[in-house]
Formats: sequence, structure tokens, C-alpha cells
Amino acid sequence: MRRNRRPWGSWIVAAAVGLAAELCAAPIVRAEPAATADAQAFFERLWPAAQARGISRGLFERAAAGFVPDPDVVELALLQPEHSKPVGTYVSDVVSQQRIDSGRQLAAVHAALLEAIEAAYGVDRHILLAIWGIESRYGAQMGSRGVIRSLATLAMMDARRSELWRRELIAALRLVQEGAVAPDRFVGSWAGAGGHMQFMPTTYATRAVDFDRDGRRDVWGSVADALASAANYLKASGWAAGVRWGQEVALPADFDFAWSAPGRAQSLREWRAAGVRTISGRDELPPGQPLRLLLPAGAGGPAFLVTGNFRALLRYNQSTAYALSVGHLADRIAGGAALAASWPADDKPLSRAQRQELQGLLATRGLDTGGIDGVIGDRTRDAIRATQRGLNLAEDGHPSAQLLERLRDSAAP
Ligand code: CA
Repeated sequence: MRRNRRPWGSWIVAAAVGLAAELCAAPIVRAEPAATADAQAFFERLWPAAQARGISRGLFERAAAGFVPDPDVVELALLQPEHSKPVGTYVSDVVSQQRIDSGRQLAAVHAALLEAIEAAYGVDRHILLAIWGIESRYGAQMGSRGVIRSLATLAMMDARRSELWRRELIAALRLVQEGAVAPDRFVGSWAGAGGHMQFMPTTYATRAVDFDRDGRRDVWGSVADALASAANYLKASGWAAGVRWGQEVALPADFDFAWSAPGRAQSLREWRAAGVRTISGRDELPPGQPLRLLLPAGAGGPAFLVTGNFRALLRYNQSTAYALSVGHLADRIAGGAALAASWPADDKPLSRAQRQELQGLLATRGLDTGGIDGVIGDRTRDAIRATQRGLNLAEDGHPSAQLLERLRDSAAP
């Protein structure tokens, strides 16, 4: 990850993806003294909402005093690994031998605790260990940035998601006011997530639990509270006890990839009838539940059947690469094998500008992508499928660089 600091002006010029368009429209390209004045004005505009949520004026003024945006936070916001690495690279990096080994050791160290959490929430211990390993390297990297400064920076600078950051900032102020966390211990990632399981302030407020019963919900200092809070969050997100997240599968040579459409979930028996086989040879998927076929890198990469619990993982972090990494790392910690299929070498993720370009090209072909917003949702995937059908390509709905190239060529005069 790039760590070099750049002055605001050159940062804006250099930024090419993600928040850049919104940031260019926002009033941040200016010298530091003016930025400080803007920062104070920003905080003052926040006061009515903070007051309505019961924040005291004294606490509010202490938080606002001397606030200047953290330039590193804005830079890091542009470099979220789920969005800039191919999914296969992300999964391979995250599911490292070191994380697998540490997870196995900690499974033994915390066996009694993990059993108690499983009994209370029905969430598999290996899933909790995997989230712990990915979020904070099992507590070794919980982040050291002041959460309030990070959230205030994002609320001020990230116009696209300003509402979300404002909500988190006010929730963070409330946590300090309630004494849930001491201001000097209130540290976390650039995005304001903190503790062993990287909880956002609103998540802490609604889902954190005091599992070790010392009277405090401490997701920073107590492994018991942190792991149980994550289990509580997953349970509230619809996690079903005793059900796997999914399994890697092999597809028959003549497979119709149209079956990977999100709406086309079917039972294990129906997938089997279509020639789909689990790689391990053991069907550990629930026979009665609808299962979705997941092709994270398109038709040329690994394939998975996933359950409703995969959706619960996406509620933790809405990234297929993330949820898949959690599921696969959990399996490896539990002693499972590496993925059988290899990831395609040429699966380069599209930038936001390229995703918008792709949506524009699909729209000129009369297809509905649900907007030209750079977000590849179900409607964009359906539009990609319709185009692939017309071009006689595997209908996997995958927004690949090759497809963009193809559409550019056919759109050229
Ligand atoms: Ca506690």
C-alpha cells in the first residue's frame, strides 16, 4: 500500500479512481489554513444532528477542537484492496499459510471460548477465527488512527457517502459520551473500524455484547467480547447454525453459464442433475436450501455453490472477494484443502471509469444497467449476460476487460 504523503493539490490531480470525481467537485483543493477553517465549519454544521442524538456541547467542542482532515485517510479510501486487486489475488493474499497456521493455533488456545460462542449464537468457530484473522491479523493489527478524526475526515471529504460517515461519526461521539470507550483507546482503521473484529461505531452500538460479563462491551481489549460480538452480528444478519457458507464445485464441459444468474438459485439435487459436482466429493451443503452458483472471476475461474450464510458474510463486508476469503480461510483452518481450480491470470478488475464506460456501452445497446454509476449490481450483470448471449460468449455476467474491449470495438464507427 502506498504510504507517501502528497499535498492536497497534487493528490487530487493524481487520483484516478473511486472517490476522485466526487472529491474534485467538493471544496477541498486548497491550502491548509483554509482547509482548517472549512473543517471547523463542517463540525459546526454537524452540531444540530449531534445535539439531537444527545451529544453534550462540551464533548462536541473537545472533538472539534483542532480538527484537521487526515490526508492519509482520504488516500487510503481510494485503495480498498477488494476493489483494486483481481479477486484471485485478493483471496490468495488473504488466505496465507501464516493466517492458516495462526488460526489453527488460536483454535486450540480459545477452544473453550469458541465452543461457548458456538452454543450461544450458532456461528461456526472457524468462520469467527477467519474473520478475526482477516480483520486484524488476530488482534495484531487493529489500527492506530483516531476513529473520530478518520470519520470526520471521510464525512467531510467523501461527498458520495457523506451521510454514512456522518452517522458513524455521531455514533462514535455517543460511544465516547456513554463511556463505552476511552477517547485515547478509540483507535482503528482509516475507515473508522476498530478492535479485533473491526467494528464500525453503529455496529458496536447495536451488536456488541459483554460475553465475558465484566460489565463492559470491550471489542478492543477482550477477545471473548470481540468474537461473540461478531457472532451476534452474523446471527442478526441471518446466519443459520450448522450450515456451511458454500463449497467449491466443478462444472460439466457443456455447462450453461446462464445458471449463474443471481436469481437462479436451486437445490443441491437440481445442481447435481445439471452435472455440478463438489470438488471434495463430499456434499456438505444443505439439501433443502436454495443454493446459488458463484463465479467470482467469471467462467474461466473457480466455481462455488453458496448458501444463505454467504449472504450473511456479505453483510459483514459487502465484497465477494472478502466473503469468499472468510469462507475459504475458515475451511483451511478447519483442515480443508486449497482451492482446486486456479484463478485466471488475465482477470484484471475494471476501474470505476471503465465500469461506467461498460454500463454506457450496454445502455447504448438498449439494456438496463440500473444507472451509469460504476456499481456492478444484479441489473448490470443481467445486461452483461444478455450481451454475452448475443455475442455467443459464456453467459457468466462477469464484467471483464475483454468484454469491454469487445463492446468498444463493436461501438466504434
Ligand atoms: Ca466484557
